[in-house]
Amino acid sequence: MVKEKKPKKKPGKRGRPSKPRKPKLQKIKVQAPKGTHDILPQEQKYWDKVRVIVGNIANNFGFGRIDTPIFEDVRIYIKGTGQTSDIVQKEIYTFKSKGGEFLALRPEFTPGIVRAYIEHGMRNLPQPVKLYSIGPLFRHDKPQAGRYRQFHQINFEIIGDSSAVSDVQIIQVFVSILKKLNLKKFYLYINSIGCLICTPKYKKILLGYYRQRLDKICPDCHRRFKENSLRLLDCKKEKCQKIAKEAPQMIDFLCDECHGHFKETLEFLDELEIPYILDPYLVRGLDYYTKTVFEIWEDKEGNSQGALVGGGHYDNLVEMFKGKPNPGVGAAAGIERIINSLKKQDVKIPEGEKPRVFIIQLGDLGKKKSLKLFEEFQRNGIRVGEAFSKPSIKSQLKIADKEGTEMALILGQKEALEGNIIIRDMVSGAQETVSLEKVINEVKRRLKK
Ligand code: AMP
Repeated sequence: MVKEKKPKKKPGKRGRPSKPRKPKLQKIKVQAPKGTHDILPQEQKYWDKVRVIVGNIANNFGFGRIDTPIFEDVRIYIKGTGQTSDIVQKEIYTFKSKGGEFLALRPEFTPGIVRAYIEHGMRNLPQPVKLYSIGPLFRHDKPQAGRYRQFHQINFEIIGDSSAVSDVQIIQVFVSILKKLNLKKFYLYINSIGCLICTPKYKKILLGYYRQRLDKICPDCHRRFKENSLRLLDCKKEKCQKIAKEAPQMIDFLCDECHGHFKETLEFLDELEIPYILDPYLVRGLDYYTKTVFEIWEDKEGNSQGALVGGGHYDNLVEMFKGKPNPGVGAAAGIERIINSLKKQDVKIPEGEKPRVFIIQLGDLGKKKSLKLFEEFQRNGIRVGEAFSKPSIKSQLKIADKEGTEMALILGQKEALEGNIIIRDMVSGAQETVSLEKVINEVKRRLKK
């Protein structure tokens, strides 16, 4: 709460109390919190476009929308996202509620959706269950290009199917979204990180390799060596990348099941003619992934804002929360990053439709009747422009002209008294007086022409 300073009462010249001074408000920084951003009206066309395309594609592919709370019990993420993930270790926003619950702002969608899937008995529905979400997420990371503390994701999950076809369908959904948005180029990177049977064996071999090179890796990699060995492979530091390049690769250690699953995934992608790049160093940052992991990047060499899309298969997440094994696959795309790429690739998004008709009012009665007329146009589904706060006809005509309006409807004191209105053709300047009662039909007729 902003504290108001109490004004001190000072005696005036002749001992009378002087006029009380206006209390001074404590100044605050007029700035959005670090790492957050406003989405201004002129930006909304990009957001609307993304939302509409995502909604249509979700519908075509048979995904139902789910909206989960933006905060959950912190244990949902500790268990789901994983104790050793960067998100839980460094980035999660947690808080204790007034009721003493330990909560976390949503840093990713999947654990909350899996929680909802179990809580609402979706296991009893025909499987798999296909769900999608759009909304804000929160991660306390160092803000930089394409990395925010509050950002928005499009998220798709298929829960209750272990087959490669679901992995491919999730990829296909994101490729379709990016294509429909007219993003000119993007690249799919894919890998398999195995399962509970083959990954531990591979990790042992990987740790053996790194044990010989501990003096050459960064402090973060030292932590990964102890806690999350697969992530040694995707360190972005140059010296660590050199070591990762020589490391043994998971693909050579996949068990038969994982090998078959990955092979099938790639065959389906070939069938769909979705090009991909095999990336043995792609491991992703979340603890629950098994088998397929993938990312979509705007550039081949990587870029400063990071991947557009990231996702993967999870065999054990549902089971980790409760009960029976129940595999799934999911992926998410950052909307801010997609919009940055659309702008970078100069993809044009048309402006929203502007009103073709503009009401111009003069005098008190003219204004009153204009308000009513505006309301009637709304009811008839015709968008009309207005500048009710401007009193002069000149300034109103100027705005109507600037907005490219085709017709101005002028309602002055005289017209209002006589129950008439002037229709002015903004191109030719021709004017005609018509009765107020008939103006909507007359405008409809002219708009149809
Ligand atoms: P993740 O949930 O980390 O797998 O990320 C999936 C996608 O979300 C990424 O490919 C990005 O497009 C986006 N994303 C992740 N973190 C951020 C962030 N801090 N700021 C903006 N976008 C993000």
